[in-house]
Parts: sequence; structure tokens; C-alpha cells
Amino acid sequence: NLYNMVQDLKGNIRVYCRIRPAFGDRTSNVIDYIGDDGSLVISDPLKPQKDGKKVFQFNRVFGPTATQDEVFMDTQPLIRSVMDGYNVCIFAYGQTGSGKTFTMSGPSGRSTKDMGINYLALSDLFQMSNERKDIVNYSIQVQMVEIYNEQIRSCTGDNGLSLPDAKMHSVKSTADVLNLMKLGEANRVVSSTALNNRSSRSHSILTVHVHGKDVSGSTLHSCLHLVDLAGSERVDKSEVTGDRLKEAQYINKSLSCLGDVITALAQKNSHIPYRNSKLTLLLQDSLGCDVQIRQMNLFLKNSSFSILFSLICPEGDSFGETISTLKFAQRVS
Ligand code: ADP
Ligand code: MG
Repeated sequence: NLYNMVQDLKGNIRVYCRIRPAFGDRTSNVIDYIGDDGSLVISDPLKPQKDGKKVFQFNRVFGPTATQDEVFMDTQPLIRSVMDGYNVCIFAYGQTGSGKTFTMSGPSGRSTKDMGINYLALSDLFQMSNERKDIVNYSIQVQMVEIYNEQIRSCTGDNGLSLPDAKMHSVKSTADVLNLMKLGEANRVVSSTALNNRSSRSHSILTVHVHGKDVSGSTLHSCLHLVDLAGSERVDKSEVTGDRLKEAQYINKSLSCLGDVITALAQKNSHIPYRNSKLTLLLQDSLGCDVQIRQMNLFLKNSSFSILFSLICPEGDSFGETISTLKFAQRVS
């Protein structure tokens, strides 16, 4: 339950690693060992001896055979806490091709098989809302925005420049959510052909707003932010120039700001550098706050939790990026 999950949090964040299945039989595999206790050993394909091994520790590691449901189940207690007034952020971090979009949205295409956390979370919130309908009246609304080159843009039509202005959609069923996800994806596809696969170079944020009112008239408002981050790969400055270099610099800056904020929160620093990027500024209200669990008290609110998924590729030729992703995740855990 939520209480047990929160006990082993340092700061308010849980950090997971997920390794996607290898594609074909390309190069060597860097995964050496996956422990049930959240440990992970990676080996450098160029140094097969002992000194090529690196050990990392997470709250949990999901191997290549982990299903979408298994991954969701581990996050479910935190996601459900949104219905009790907690704010929750879930981030997918990793290089392009590592499985960020697969984990958050699911495989591309129209099938509803293997849906990701976004869909499973919303279905679960609808189910809870229905289970509690005699005691709490909930309404659920969503916004879809992306941040590209430090500019916020709505993915579903209007051109709101900040999250509060971005179009708000009331959703009542999973069918509503699917339609909206299609609309958002179509909008991103349009811009990706125009701007050369922009989707891997923007942060995409699905925000779920939950409003609740109980029989005694108390109200709550909380948010679940589901964030598919821009690809974390380093670009070679000698090879890119102009717009591509500018994009890369914006991405590096905002990802390192995110790391700074999460680290500062985990260390309980008095100054949290939210203002250094649009992403952290936008999520500010959902990233801070101390955890105060009072079970039974439905409407004690505005505490927050975060989950960081670090997604990695198993192939040997991704070793450098894999290490840099794991180091980022280790720094905030
Ligand atoms: P990213 O969003 O990080 O660039 P994607 O989520 O698009 O990466 O994943 C790259 C490819 O790998 C996609 O074809 C995706 O369907 C597939 N993939 C990623 N993770 C998994 C997984 N856990 N199981 C099966 N296929 C996966
Ligand atoms: Mg993606």
C-alpha cells in the first residue's frame, strides 16, 4: 500500500530502470546482472574483464521481459494517491530508442494492446472514481502539451503558451482518453515531419487534473503529470550546427535542470532551482512538498511524489549513453 511504498523513499522519489528487449542480434549485450533487490550490473563490451563492470542501485529494475502491466502495478499505489489529493509526476528519461514512449504511451499504432502507463493510469483513476462515487464526486480533465526549445505548446489544438492556458479536456471514459491521445499524437506527427522528427527532441507532458468534492463539501484538486522527456543523447558538437545544435543545447539544459531540482529536493536544500527551465517551472507545484501520510483523511493534500523511469538499451553500441542515463538516475536516487 501507499504507506509501505513511501517508507523507503529518500526525498519523495522512486527511481526505476527498465531495459528494453534487444533488437535482432545486433552487437553484444551490456546487461550483466539484474537483481530482485533493484541492483543492476552493466559491462563494458570493450573491457570484458572485471574492471569493465559497473554496479547501480534502483528501487527496482525491470528486465526486457517485464510486461506493461507489471511496470504499471509497481507505480499504481502512487498513481492512486492522486485521488486522495497528492500530486504525482512520472518521468521517462533515456536516449532516443530506449523505450520512453513505449513505457508511457505504448507501441505506436492503433491497437490497444500493450498500452502504457498513461492509459493504464487513467483507466485506473476512472475505476476509482466509480468505486467511490457514493462518497466523492470526482471530475477528471487532461491537458497535453510539449516543450520544444523552451517554448510550451498545446498538442490538442489551441496555442496556449503556458500550461494554465493550454486546452483542457474533460474525460469520462477510457474511450475519451484514447481519442485524445490520437489527436495529440497526430499533432506531434505533423510537426515531426515538418521539423525532422521533433518528437524525440521535445518533452511531452500529459497532465491529469483531478477535482473531488466529498459529501461534507470538502474539495481537493490534484495533478498527475506524465512526462515523456526529450532524448537524452549527447550530440557531437563538431557534427551539428544551427537549429540542431540549438535544440540539443536546450535539451541538455532542461534535463540537467530537472536533475538539479530532483537532487536538491532529495537533499532537502532550502533553495530549489525551479526557475532554470520551463519544465521544472511548470511542474514546480507537483515536485516539492513534504510527504505527510495521514491515512483515513481523504482531503489532506498537496504532498507530492515522483517516479523516474530510466530507460536503457541493452546493445553494446549504446554503452556510453546507457552509462550516462544510469548516472543521471543514480544521482537523483
Ligand atoms: P523512445 O521513445 O525512447 O525514443 P520508443 O518507446 O519509441 O523509444 O522505443 C523504440 C522502439 O522499441 C519502438 O519500436 C518500441 O515499440 C520498442 N520498444 C521499446 N521498449 C519496448 C519494450 N519494453 N518491449 C517491446 N518493445 C519495446
Ligand atoms: Mg519517444
